[in-house]
Amino acid sequence: MKRALSTSLATDIMIVVLIASCAALAVFSMVSVRLNRDRLLAQLDAQLATLADIIAQNSTAPLDFEDRDAAENVLQALRREPHILSSCLYSGSGALFAEYRRTTGDTFCPARSAQITSLGPHYRRALRPALRGDKYVGSIILTSDLRDIAAQEHRLIITFLLLALISLAIAGASGSVLQYRISRPIRSLARAMHKVTAEGSFDAHVRVWGSKDIAQLALGFNSMITELQRRNRLAKLADERLQEQARTDSLTGLPNRRLFTEFLTIAIATARRKQQLMALLYIDLDGFKLVNDSLGHSIGDLLLRDVASRLKSRIRVSDSLARIGGDEFAIILTDIREIQNAGSVAASLLECMTTPFRLEGHEITVGASIGISVFQDGQQHGTDLLRQADSAMYAAKRGGRNRVAYFTEELRSVASERLTLENQLRGAIGRGEIFLHYQPEFDSLTGNIIRFEALARWHHPQLGHIAPNRFIPVAEESGLIHPLGRYVLEQACREAVRWQTTPSAPIQVAVNVSPLQFSSETIVQDVCRALDSTGLPPRLLQIELTESVMMGSLQRSLEKMQSLRALGVSLALDDFGTGFSCLSYLPELPLAAIKLDRSFVSKLMTVSGSNKMIRSIVDLAHSMNMRVIAEGVEEKSQLELIKKLGVDEVQGFLLGRPGPNPISLLQASSARPQQSCGVAPVTVLSTS
Ligand code: C2E
Ligand code: MG
Ligand code: MG
Repeated sequence: MKRALSTSLATDIMIVVLIASCAALAVFSMVSVRLNRDRLLAQLDAQLATLADIIAQNSTAPLDFEDRDAAENVLQALRREPHILSSCLYSGSGALFAEYRRTTGDTFCPARSAQITSLGPHYRRALRPALRGDKYVGSIILTSDLRDIAAQEHRLIITFLLLALISLAIAGASGSVLQYRISRPIRSLARAMHKVTAEGSFDAHVRVWGSKDIAQLALGFNSMITELQRRNRLAKLADERLQEQARTDSLTGLPNRRLFTEFLTIAIATARRKQQLMALLYIDLDGFKLVNDSLGHSIGDLLLRDVASRLKSRIRVSDSLARIGGDEFAIILTDIREIQNAGSVAASLLECMTTPFRLEGHEITVGASIGISVFQDGQQHGTDLLRQADSAMYAAKRGGRNRVAYFTEELRSVASERLTLENQLRGAIGRGEIFLHYQPEFDSLTGNIIRFEALARWHHPQLGHIAPNRFIPVAEESGLIHPLGRYVLEQACREAVRWQTTPSAPIQVAVNVSPLQFSSETIVQDVCRALDSTGLPPRLLQIELTESVMMGSLQRSLEKMQSLRALGVSLALDDFGTGFSCLSYLPELPLAAIKLDRSFVSKLMTVSGSNKMIRSIVDLAHSMNMRVIAEGVEEKSQLELIKKLGVDEVQGFLLGRPGPNPISLLQASSARPQQSCGVAPVTVLSTS
């Protein structure tokens, strides 16, 4: 591993090539030397045999004549053959007859041929008989050394060594070529890879060169880098888009809550440094849920977009508008001169909402409740301001919606109380803490009780009596109004069935249905179920709706009202005069009655012109075949005047407070003689 890291591929290849070529060369030279030696030895043996034959032939005569000088002359001819060490001529009896020595120190001939011994591997010997005809006359022995062969072998080995050197040089040169063509491109690839992995830089294309395979590797690497660059670009784009989406609202394009919180932190820091006044407006649409539930989310979305652009058109460029929830918007008003300026802006925002929105053929009216918190003591944080503006917004909603409220200290406790109430309300029905009281409503001409209004009561074991004005808004905000509303409907119908056995029958029951409850798509079914399960005839049920049900989709509200009318149930418009009182839709509504808000009656004796207004409303209602009910009658004088103004029915503490046992009241009133004109005040039962 260490070696693999410390040497380059080319060096490795070079070492392998060198070892391989050296080994091949060594084997080749050994084999060559060996073969060459065998060949030379064979040649030498043949030459010795030939020379020995010639000398044996030429020595026959000197042997025959025992002419030693002639024999030695013959042998001296061997001087021309330098490799011949000695030549020994023996007579037919085996005695040495003549001899030749290359040098005096060289091997000599033994006295008798029988004494000739073996010479070892460094010498060659040839033995030939000297024959005259077929007659043996002597023998010749030639001895040669291997000097020539050794010299030739020497030369051969030097040649091989030279060859080895040349091949080493060639291997070295090809190694550096390899190094250049393989190792360097691979190293530059490795550097590029390191750049990608360690530095995260995708700008790491490499030069395409080197051997074909390496060039292909570089090409592949480059295309991989191009692909990585493309993916990296896409990932960055997607990341940027995500970042943007995480900070803006995709529907309206406005900043979302997250970005708004950042703006708020900056705005607070600026206001603190420059000692400026700054306000936060928390806007919640009234009736938006109705639009969503009745006309669908696509219309709801369009509405939110239009609302956003209307709101934007009413604020300065330096102010920040954001959508911070489903139908909730918030605005930061920076550097305002006075606290009241925030209220003026809020009023202008409410005003811009009064024109109906026209969306895909629907005419939609929504209001808004706006809460204002002001940064003035330099202590508040963004979350404080938001919470305060939120509490103020809820106060505006409780105050009747479509209005503005500033955050006040007492709202702080209201907010925490709301939370407690909501938690308690969840189990209240199951625990039997919710029950109904009934308040009578009288015919102003005959004085007869014509119906009882069912009013929900909540008695909590620890918190005591909790007024509906406190828990109904909590039920609406938490969605608990649906089970609560169904429970009230059922209980009221069941109670009303009991009244029909009294002599005063038929007596109607009026049940309040909140706008949110009415927005439910099951409201008509809920009413049917209550009637069916209790057996109350539909004409004996009057549903009280408020003007807020007209917010959202008027069309859908109308359809539901008509369905209820078709069932035989009658409808009354409760708290008339407190909502946005747009009279234009009134003729379209299938109402049996309108119920004048208590404020009309309370102002009757004090505010001039009040009676004229009531007279006009009565005339208007009668012209549309609707009866008029006055609620909140507390004084006799009020009752007298109201009757004179033509109001058809009356309700109020003067005539009867809400109580748990209406049947006893019915029995008491039927036992009393009827007054011909006017209502008989009833001293009633327990107060709520
Ligand atoms: P509302 O429907 O307008 O009911 C009349 C309210 O005026 C009742 O208050 C009643 O006690 C009160 N009232 C009647 N005569 C007089 C009077 O002469 N003087 C004064 N000062 N008050 C009078 P309550 O029972 O506190 O109910 C308040 C509101 O709570 C109701 O106003 C109604 O909007 C709501 N509410 C009550 N029960 C239910 C319910 O079961 N469902 C729904 N959705 N709302 C309910
Ligand atoms: Mg009512
Ligand atoms: Mg009312």
